[in-house]
Amino acid sequence: MTGTAGPVGSAPVVVVGGGVIGLCTAYYLAAAGVPTEVVERRGLGSGVSRGNAGWVCLSHSTPVPAPGVLRYALRSLGRPDSPLYLRPLPDPAFLRWLWRFWRSSTPAAFRRGYTAIAELNRDTFDLFDALDDAGVATTLTRPGMVHAFLSPAEARHHLAIQREMADGRYSLPADVTTGTEARLLDSALSDRVRAAYLVKGEGVVDPEAFARGLGEALAAAGVKVHENAEVTGFRSGSGHVGALRTDQGEIPCSAVVVAAGMRTPQLLRALGHRLPLQAGKGYSFSVDLDPAPRHTLYFGERRAVASPIGGTTRIGGTMELSGNNNRLDWRRIVAVALASRHYLGRWFDDPDDLVSRIRDPWVGGRPFLPDGLPVIDRLPGHDNVFAATGHGMLGVTLGPATGHRLAEYLLTGRRPEVLAPFRFDRPGR
Ligand SMILES: Cc1cc2nc3c(=O)[nH]c(=O)nc-3n(C[C@H](O)[C@H](O)[C@H](O)COP(=O)(O)OP(=O)(O)OC[C@H]3O[C@@H](n4cnc5c(N)ncnc54)[C@H](O)[C@@H]3O)c2cc1C
Repeated sequence: MTGTAGPVGSAPVVVVGGGVIGLCTAYYLAAAGVPTEVVERRGLGSGVSRGNAGWVCLSHSTPVPAPGVLRYALRSLGRPDSPLYLRPLPDPAFLRWLWRFWRSSTPAAFRRGYTAIAELNRDTFDLFDALDDAGVATTLTRPGMVHAFLSPAEARHHLAIQREMADGRYSLPADVTTGTEARLLDSALSDRVRAAYLVKGEGVVDPEAFARGLGEALAAAGVKVHENAEVTGFRSGSGHVGALRTDQGEIPCSAVVVAAGMRTPQLLRALGHRLPLQAGKGYSFSVDLDPAPRHTLYFGERRAVASPIGGTTRIGGTMELSGNNNRLDWRRIVAVALASRHYLGRWFDDPDDLVSRIRDPWVGGRPFLPDGLPVIDRLPGHDNVFAATGHGMLGVTLGPATGHRLAEYLLTGRRPEVLAPFRFDRPGR
């Protein structure tokens, strides 16, 4: 598409990574008439965009480095059943990351981060509606989210923080429901739940199906998708990339968007940039429950979740900082399952039964920068390279907003104001 003020030319814009962030970005570029291609080293939606909890929500716009979080993580040392589990690594990059993470967990930084994410998130449901109207099978439903707690004091504390942070951007109930009535908010809740509140309108997608839907929309728009093709480097000079090198040959481009999740840093290194990403590993599995949750459920004290996805229940949780790998630690699956029993009742007796009871045990690394905010920006010193990653716990929710704004940036050559907090060279990143 010549004639735009941005770097887009007649050669395609090539998006590296077929996760929810790359797919949404490719979608909005193609929708604007930009020749677009996607390169994905495996299959579309096969990274951390696959087994996640599918929440599309406004009420959890929190960056992870919340005040007190590192103290909480340090208490988890040596306790692999803790919701936030830190396994110290003798790796200077990991220790530097932790130091910056701690520095970002001040109340002021947390509030700034929350505001930035909430502003980006503002249009999310409108964007999902527009995707649906355009024929993309997003699978979004909006059953609402029940926040369930074992203690009324904890529930009130959580709601008070959410009210303060929401600052009128979305509506929250005036108070929590307590006692035996709390569990009536969702019939799957157990009688140990002593307090709960419903945030109406919060949504959920089937993440695999959403990625498939985006892939189909790209195919219909004529976007060339290279699956099982890995980007290995760039042909570049004077701050400009002319082509991507892949294990299947070169692909010429007018611009590049690197949305390669946890593998983004190694690609950016080839262009002379460091991006300190760490994986916040989370786990999930599916189980048929009776009764099954009708809402998305947040298990407050244990920071685990349950989602109605694809006719079954997906249970997920944990944040494990144990290095950039995808090793599945079965103890963490057991920890999530045990945590869920407080809220869902005794749906299994012995952890040994889980092997036969659950399906699709899964682990994925949420890409995290130390300040908990994504990077959505042009690479400094390059006129036509953009990066979009670091969405942590919120990549599915923020996928459309990220793709929409980034496409606008590429087309106009001007960074939309809402993306300013997600600059590549911001302090603390
Ligand atoms: C347990 C769990 C629950 C979660 N629940 C939610 C939720 O409820 N709601 C929510 O909003 N978010 C949730 N998340 C977070 C969400 O899954 C992520 O933020 C999001 O999927 C990140 O998407 P991505 O596109 O950046 O990364 P990915 O999905 O990992 O995509 C990156 C892609 O790039 C490809 N790639 C990498 N390197 C190359 C290369 N060199 N060449 C070509 N391709 C390459 C990879 O194969 C991969 O497919 C959850 C995460 C976990 C772990």
